[in-house]
Amino acid sequence: MTIKDQIKSLQEELRQHNYNYYVLDNPTISDYEFDMKLKKLQELEAKHPEFADANSPTQRVGGAITKNFETVKHEHRMYSLDNSYSKEDLLDWETRLKKMIDGPIQFTCELKYDGASISLTYENGSLLRAVTRGDGVQGDDVTANVKTIKSVPLQLKGDYPPKFDIRGEIVLPFEGFNKMNEEREEIGEEPYRNPRNTASGSLKLQDSAEVAKRPLECLLYNITGSNLGIKTQFESLEKARAWGFKVPNAAKLANSIDEVLEFVEYWDVKRHDLPYETDGVVVKVNSLQHQDELGYTAKAPRWAMAYKFKAEQVSTILLEITYQVGRTGAITPVANLEPVELAGTTVKRASLHNADQIEKLDIREGDTVFVEKGGEIIPKIIAVDLSKRPSNSTPTQYITHCPECETELIRQAGEAQHYCPNYNGCKPQIIGRIQHFISRKAMDIDGLGKGTVELLFHHDKVNNYSDLYFLKQKEIEGLRMWLDNPDAGLKKNNQLQVPLGKAIFGLSQGWGNLSRTHSDLIAESVSDIMEIFNLKKLPEGVEERKFERLIDMLNKTIHTVELSNYYSFSDYVSFNLLLDLKYPKDTLDLFEINSLDIDFIDEALSLNRFKRHEKFEDFIVKVSDRNRVGIQSKNAEKIIEAIQTSKKRPFENVLYALGIRDVGEVSAKNLVNHFLTLDSLVEASFDELTSIRDIGESVASNILSFFSNEANSKIIARLKEAGLNFEVEKKELLSEKLKGLNFVVSGKFSIERNVLKKIIEENGGKNVSSLSKNTSYLIVGENMGPSKKEKAEKNDIKMISEEEFYDLLK
Ligand code: AMP
Ligand code: ZN
Repeated sequence: MTIKDQIKSLQEELRQHNYNYYVLDNPTISDYEFDMKLKKLQELEAKHPEFADANSPTQRVGGAITKNFETVKHEHRMYSLDNSYSKEDLLDWETRLKKMIDGPIQFTCELKYDGASISLTYENGSLLRAVTRGDGVQGDDVTANVKTIKSVPLQLKGDYPPKFDIRGEIVLPFEGFNKMNEEREEIGEEPYRNPRNTASGSLKLQDSAEVAKRPLECLLYNITGSNLGIKTQFESLEKARAWGFKVPNAAKLANSIDEVLEFVEYWDVKRHDLPYETDGVVVKVNSLQHQDELGYTAKAPRWAMAYKFKAEQVSTILLEITYQVGRTGAITPVANLEPVELAGTTVKRASLHNADQIEKLDIREGDTVFVEKGGEIIPKIIAVDLSKRPSNSTPTQYITHCPECETELIRQAGEAQHYCPNYNGCKPQIIGRIQHFISRKAMDIDGLGKGTVELLFHHDKVNNYSDLYFLKQKEIEGLRMWLDNPDAGLKKNNQLQVPLGKAIFGLSQGWGNLSRTHSDLIAESVSDIMEIFNLKKLPEGVEERKFERLIDMLNKTIHTVELSNYYSFSDYVSFNLLLDLKYPKDTLDLFEINSLDIDFIDEALSLNRFKRHEKFEDFIVKVSDRNRVGIQSKNAEKIIEAIQTSKKRPFENVLYALGIRDVGEVSAKNLVNHFLTLDSLVEASFDELTSIRDIGESVASNILSFFSNEANSKIIARLKEAGLNFEVEKKELLSEKLKGLNFVVSGKFSIERNVLKKIIEENGGKNVSSLSKNTSYLIVGENMGPSKKEKAEKNDIKMISEEEFYDLLK
């Protein structure tokens, strides 16, 4: 096989695997095998750039940078949709349609995906362009970014028309969104608010390699173009599917508005099981000929109607407003709610965003509030039920001092957030910075989790991230402490609360040994632990025998429970009650203490008042949301090893790890590429900083203030002493064939311009941005501007084509 055939066949094969995996959700080879094949193709294409292809599967990994997104006019306008909210609205619509159309009308019902709309143009089966909706008339060219979305076919299959546009929605499925947020929280960043905004934000990232890492999907719903040979909307969905697009199977044909309503009712409930966000149903007149007759209003097609699902709302009580301090010192107020079911999950907390929001809602502790789960993952409080406000309620006073370190808070003009300015002394800021430092995209120190960092800080082993590099195995072995899980352990009357499922599980240990799953099932069928006595029918799978033992145990000890000490609400029981049940008072007097805190547990353990105290400790870990963290000697060794290994991380990761406010991975990379060493970055002026890609004025001043902070200078000196990389490592070159040559590239090429530039660098050449006497070659692409040509001729600069450039590499 020739190299060319080999490349083509690999491309073909990988395309099919992408399709199996991302469109059909049915992979036929392992991820590893796929990666190996992709690597092989990458190598071949790098060695033989003349056979590369802008739509090769290798382009999925991204790399192209878009500084300014070009505005493109849509060939066919992208309309909005009219909305309806009730059966009546839909019936009205049908009446209007019947006035304009004779005979029966069929409808296609589809889900309304909540993401960012996109228009894809295909020519001869290849993806030519991807443009955002913009204002409907023109949008932004985001082709480089969209190419990285694996469910967007770069090359179509089957019997497709030579040219058409296809519209769809780019969505971020929950699973991927949650994972992205977990990673962000791990490094102390604010989580993203909702999948929709994150999806549309992703399309406008400058670095397509970043987009490639996001698990976006593209769901298609509309084909436009002329002479397509399609007669109905439903048929167009089937065709699109056959050409390789991802078209969800939920779509259904309906012969009447009643059937449409059935579809709506079904999905209003079922949508909660979908992997991505939907906010309604789109009903479309099925016949394209009917669609033509109906036409458009100024804003929307007359032949389509969106039916919006109602956002689910519940009311609950605001127990307490607490305040969290982030890694940057930003304060976020949090509403702690009486747990309540909403859209399939139990909601306990909601963000209140900032002081303005609290003032706007005039929200107070003790208020009954309405909570809604719309597009946001974190539920929102929309309003206060003033009729239920307690008579003694007083307006919420926003805190003036940091809840963690008591420093007075500041609020910069124009900023919504309050900040704790105690950069060097505020615990969550210090710990947050260390967590960020060790996170995967920064120093990637494995084996050192969130809990361990807190443990090390708690025992005064690390006060900033440079201390990590001076830790000795001996001094960290055997450290331990109790950790609070902020998500649970809801407090009322200062008592720790235990989720009912966990309580049942804990109680049954040693007697019935119910599994955690079965305990949760029982918990679901009661709302109060005492209701267990009345339970008539056991949840499926729960063994009668084990359940009877649980009842037995409850009975045996129930007389010891004092009512004053007992309460439970909304699926929670008090920890004290639980302990009373498990260890009745006559055997252990320790539980007369009213509230149970960590110190108490620790004290109890150290006093050795419990005969089998390990069991007791286990019990607490099992039933409460308290966790114990500790470092065993084997772990200690691993941790020290991982810390040492991290010294090899390249400069760009080190710079990112430092945690300068708003310097993300991309900015860190750009700074490193520009300055090459930390020393020259430290000396940089404001103007030099702002001249760099992605570095705006506020980031520039953050950088300056970071390095002018004396504590930071000391920390950096220690990191240098430890041997971290503060300079760019010299890259290994593929060849030195272009050594000493300066290139300017201009116009369009068969491969992305950035890839071309990369080839130049990999072979020892240098890219310069503008023509001068020192330019060795101008590589001329399609549509190069005439002024460039003139300037090159004037300066006697050699102009070569893309092909001639490849010849230089031979
Ligand atoms: P709106 O933004 O509320 O005017 O709704 C119109 C938008 O809904 C369109 O621009 C699409 O991006 C989006 N949409 C989501 N799913 C569909 C679908 N199945 N058919 C048509 N439009 C859809
Ligand atoms: Zn503070």
